[in-house]
Amino acid sequence: MKRGEISFWLTHPGAPTAPPTQTLARDIDCDVAIVGGGLSGLWVAWALAQVRPELSVAVLEAECLGFGASGRNGGWMSAKQVGVRRALARGAGGAKAVTDMQDRLASACNEVVDILGADEIDARRGGWTQLARSASELRRAENYVAESRRWGLDESSIRMMSAEETYERIHASGIVGAIHSPHNYCVDPVKMVFRLASLAIDAGAAVYTGARVTNIEPGQLTVGPHRVKASQIVVATEGYTAAQPGQRRRMLPLNSSMLVTEPLTQDQWARVGWDHHDGVSATAHTYFHSERTPDGRIAIGGRGRPYRFGSRTDRNGMTDEATVRSLMQVIEDLFPGLGARPAHAWCGVIGVTRDWSPFLDYDSAGQVLRMGGYAGQGLTASYLAGLAAADLLTGRKSFLSTSAWVRPVPRRWEPEPLRWIGANGFYLAYSLADRLEALSRSDRTSRIARIADKIAAR
Ligand SMILES: Cc1cc2nc3c(=O)[nH]c(=O)nc-3n(C[C@H](O)[C@H](O)[C@H](O)COP(=O)(O)OP(=O)(O)OC[C@H]3O[C@@H](n4cnc5c(N)ncnc54)[C@H](O)[C@@H]3O)c2cc1C
Repeated sequence: MKRGEISFWLTHPGAPTAPPTQTLARDIDCDVAIVGGGLSGLWVAWALAQVRPELSVAVLEAECLGFGASGRNGGWMSAKQVGVRRALARGAGGAKAVTDMQDRLASACNEVVDILGADEIDARRGGWTQLARSASELRRAENYVAESRRWGLDESSIRMMSAEETYERIHASGIVGAIHSPHNYCVDPVKMVFRLASLAIDAGAAVYTGARVTNIEPGQLTVGPHRVKASQIVVATEGYTAAQPGQRRRMLPLNSSMLVTEPLTQDQWARVGWDHHDGVSATAHTYFHSERTPDGRIAIGGRGRPYRFGSRTDRNGMTDEATVRSLMQVIEDLFPGLGARPAHAWCGVIGVTRDWSPFLDYDSAGQVLRMGGYAGQGLTASYLAGLAAADLLTGRKSFLSTSAWVRPVPRRWEPEPLRWIGANGFYLAYSLADRLEALSRSDRTSRIARIADKIAAR
């Protein structure tokens, strides 16, 4: 089996070919320079071309297209809440701004498919189903749905399913119920990045790869020996932001791992009973998310080493044996005796702000816009953030440019070693809480998990 090599989506034999990009071989001038060629940066480039096609836009990507989280993720493009509602409701727009954004996310999934094309990105409409497999998980799931109701989401957006109804959708062991939402597509992440890059390039953006920005200052970027002069700069480096001077504690690069199995046989799929396109996840504190790939594999994400000291990031997605074992154990636990075999495992980083919520932080001089902080929900969010960024940069007052996400970067994370102790300690606490809840059979969430949630501000 393979480990690392960025991701299965980028390197498997049938992987798509990247659109042609440019190499930065001289100094350039442009109206808007975008640091980071993931979904965020590319959506900004695309959206700018829609609202002000005359602007010259350059996207500077340090590695290749699909190198970051955008090319390594689990492929759920959902309308799930992005960020923590009560944190976002502290903004000027209050609770209304949060519910407005929630509604916008649901339509955004469909818009992305319309723009990029369902076939081009292997978009499969299902929903998402979050399994509850113990009394405490069931109660937590019910509380989550009840809270969603208070924030205005009705039965058509999110509801509880009985154990029987859930089992009909998927034959996982130990099911006692599930949350279900119809708002999700499973997509091929790399096809999505490549398609969006093609559209941005066709619309006039210059996309440079192998162009690592080593210095960011208003009006100018440094890329190796070259200068990129720009009236406006967008920084869309999400989980990689901590490597920039002055940014080490702004966004925590939280590690997230993925694994795909070898294709399952028809018999194995019949036992799994997963013959729809739902993304399937857990209510356990140690979360997993999974999808059925078009070529008949299970793709599953979660686990892994949560955080590397000093906000360091992985090397080309290399992940360890323990993570592979742990993700395979989740599959075995869901479908005992299935006999699935691992094919490729990798990891990546998601950008997490101190209040676990997204931001578009535009400086008062209108020269530098920083964006990100989707905390693992970036497939739909990066589209809306890209539209919002284009409106902010061009001075258009719109629903998105005045939304709850437009706000300063939240307060900093704690210095090391507190950051390392905290991030890894939470993970241990949540694993322990899962074990204690399973043993107690009570429907109460473990006190350890409740304390961890409070300290983490989740
Ligand atoms: C394993 C995993 C599973 C996930 N699953 C899901 C999921 O199922 N659904 C979902 O909605 N979200 C998921 N996410 C999160 C989602 O992938 C991200 O939120 C989203 O891709 C962020 O896009 P981005 O463009 O902001 O960041 P990225 O895709 O990380 O792009 C940032 C880019 O900036 C580049 N860069 C960094 N520094 C520099 C520099 N100095 N100069 C130039 N370029 C630079 C990087 O090389 C990178 O390509 C997952 C993430 C991971 C890691």
